[in-house]
Amino acid sequence: MIFEGLSEKLQNALGKLKGKGKLSEKDVNDAMREVKLALLEADVNFKVVKDFISKVKDRCVGQDVMESLTPGQHVIKIVNEELTSLMGTVQSRISFASKPPTIIMLVGLQGAGKTTTGGKLAGYLKKHQSKRPLLVACDIYRPAAIKQLQVVGSKLDIPVFDMGDKQNPVDIAKAGIEHAIKKGNDLVIIDTAGRLHIDEDLMNELKDVKREVKPHEILLVIDAMTGQDAVNVAENFNEALGVDGIILTKLDGDTRGGAALSVRAVTHKPIKFIGMGEKLDDLEPFHPDRMASRILG
Ligand code: GDP
Repeated sequence: MIFEGLSEKLQNALGKLKGKGKLSEKDVNDAMREVKLALLEADVNFKVVKDFISKVKDRCVGQDVMESLTPGQHVIKIVNEELTSLMGTVQSRISFASKPPTIIMLVGLQGAGKTTTGGKLAGYLKKHQSKRPLLVACDIYRPAAIKQLQVVGSKLDIPVFDMGDKQNPVDIAKAGIEHAIKKGNDLVIIDTAGRLHIDEDLMNELKDVKREVKPHEILLVIDAMTGQDAVNVAENFNEALGVDGIILTKLDGDTRGGAALSVRAVTHKPIKFIGMGEKLDDLEPFHPDRMASRILG
């Protein structure tokens, strides 16, 4: 189950309210203290937690909640709504270009799951939106990145464009787009290079690709297992490059939930997809309301 520890603690804290006929302000405060601890233990950003708790409390007190017939249910509903809002309220979709091909540039640190996610995303959009994607291999630094993309592409029966590792990423990306236009691919997904840490060379290279290629979407791939680090990475990438959305990987693992619950509030960028496993069809569109309900059980 997703965010097991967090779910259990939230259910415990809120469950205590359910049985009560009437709630006092102290009941709500006690429950909110537990909710706050549960969120902090799940590695949710401190400021995000503070704002969240204060919003929930305000609504609990302000809305005649405590006088209602089922006040506990009311509080749970409010928590659910605020969790949903924290994660962006509504599903955020890929915006496709009115004049194809749509160009998506994938960025992120090495190991976040970028190359795998490029394949997953191409496969998803081919299957569910009848797109004809082309994957473009611009990660010329990581040994075997090009080969990895080719393997992914062949498994999905999706073409991969590469020029080896001796050309620069801007030229490869441009040639890839021309190739897509010639071949009738209406979607180009560019796999860029990642580094172990954010550094200036990496950002400059990504900025060059962005300037020359003018992608319709820059999607940042981050690893949910790294919690607040992932959120910091997202903030840095967004400040340096400007991203349009986030793909959160490895949510199938033993992750606490901090990245999923913080990254939208911290960066103001939506999570568009989530990675739920190593297989190429383990990618799902992100629905804030469904995630909130999953967490609250
Ligand atoms: P890159 O360096 O960012 O291109 O990362 P890769 O695409 O090579 O992925 C790094 C590792 O993470 C690989 O072993 C992937 O199989 C794994 N991975 C990627 N996405 C997910 C996911 O959603 N869940 C799990 N469990 N593993 C993933």
